[in-house]
Amino acid sequence: MPTVGVVAIQGDYEKHIDALWRTQYNDLDVREVRVAEDLDGVDRVIIPGGESTTVGMLMQRFGLADALRARAATGMPVWGTCMGMILMAKSIEDRQDQFTLGLLDITVRRNAFGAQVHSFEDEVAVEGLGTSVMGVFIRAPIVTECRGGAIPIARYKDLIVAVKQGNCLGTSFHPELTDDDRMHRWFLDWASS
Ligand code: GLN
Repeated sequence: MPTVGVVAIQGDYEKHIDALWRTQYNDLDVREVRVAEDLDGVDRVIIPGGESTTVGMLMQRFGLADALRARAATGMPVWGTCMGMILMAKSIEDRQDQFTLGLLDITVRRNAFGAQVHSFEDEVAVEGLGTSVMGVFIRAPIVTECRGGAIPIARYKDLIVAVKQGNCLGTSFHPELTDDDRMHRWFLDWASS
């Protein structure tokens, strides 16, 4: 029975919650996560899109950052979309001082598609999922470097837009903003320890 915690500090977390319920996955439970204690009983976590500087700061203040790192280290699946992937990265280009959880051994570039292209949609093939999904990109980051166990699993025009490293997944785009629940189902199928 998957019990999903959705980080609900700021951003489009309600869209993820709606997307999760839409899957009608058997025995699913969904909880909003803001402080460390909210992780009790949760077996996987989604970090939504939003504003990475604000959420990073509040995650530290609420003790959630340390708790998330500890749980991820024991094998709990974590999926970050857009801002979520930025927060999961080890480093952010040109922003050495910005806080991240460091769960994915990658470097990301924030707002990588430039000011003139705030938002667009295009098809993206996702390895592992075995199919293409409609990628919704909103002031999206890209992955500029993948190291160690971090494996690129999707590209848009040669740019890396999704990465998997063990129990951790990062996507530049927002499957929660489409009617297609396959990425959410895929994540719910992952084993948790
Ligand atoms: N540009 C945002 C950031 O850097 C992320 C955008 C998003 O999550 N849609 O925090």
